[in-house]
Amino acid sequence: MTMTQTPLPGKVHLVGGGPGDPELLTLKAARLLATADVVVHDNLVSAAVLAYARPDAERIYVGKKAGNHSLPQIDINRLLVTLARQGKQVVRLKGGDPYIFGRGGEEAETLAAAGIPFDVVPGVTAAAGAAAYAGIPLTHRDHAQSCFLVTGHLQDESCNLDWPTLARPGQTLVIYMGLTSLPEISRQLIAHGMDPATPAACVRRATLPDQEVITGSIADLDGRVRAAGFKPPAILIIGNVVTLHEVLGLPSP
Ligand code: SAH
Repeated sequence: MTMTQTPLPGKVHLVGGGPGDPELLTLKAARLLATADVVVHDNLVSAAVLAYARPDAERIYVGKKAGNHSLPQIDINRLLVTLARQGKQVVRLKGGDPYIFGRGGEEAETLAAAGIPFDVVPGVTAAAGAAAYAGIPLTHRDHAQSCFLVTGHLQDESCNLDWPTLARPGQTLVIYMGLTSLPEISRQLIAHGMDPATPAACVRRATLPDQEVITGSIADLDGRVRAAGFKPPAILIIGNVVTLHEVLGLPSP
């Protein structure tokens, strides 16, 4: 019998922390947070959600600090592998849902390649949170037969959006990370045939007590959003379903 011991491999839970309101955490997310040895988190996770972590858990922040860049994705991937190899139970807490934008897929690929046990806990994605709390039913059948979740991160070289498809009527677009590129998004949609009067909304800090909603048309939303000085995180919803906000939008959550 050999006495050399490598620690048993830990496990990484890729956990969706939801859009902000801690009551939108799943029971599973709350249970894992309450027991994990380490919580690796970034900007989008609200303080109220993080408060569910075990009080003595190690918290590792990998997001952007004022003026600084976030830890490069490759380093986050390595960190998760290293922590698991130390035998730790790790919660990688991500905003919204881990597999909707936000690079959870890349983290899972790294863990799979390294042979680290992991699982994925879905979360309420920002589209669902914003829709519910801003009163915009994304696929109300009088208005939309499909709904696209789209990245607005147009600076990314791999981003090649199918504008003719996105510009069609009878559907809803929910655009993540689209605030900076809103002028370009509007221009492209209108250039590819979308009616400039198509209703559009920008929901900032959806589901949080300071949630803000601005509505307008695809042609004028950018001006309204700039005038209000909106900063990320904000999500765009484009399509006739936005008209329902007037009836279904509730005062702040
Ligand atoms: N995995 C996340 C999305 C990560 S991408 C999810 O499923 O929600 C980051 C983008 O998500 C932000 O730029 C913003 O467009 C959107 N987002 C996340 N939380 C948000 C919130 N509380 N309110 C509005 N938009 C939000």
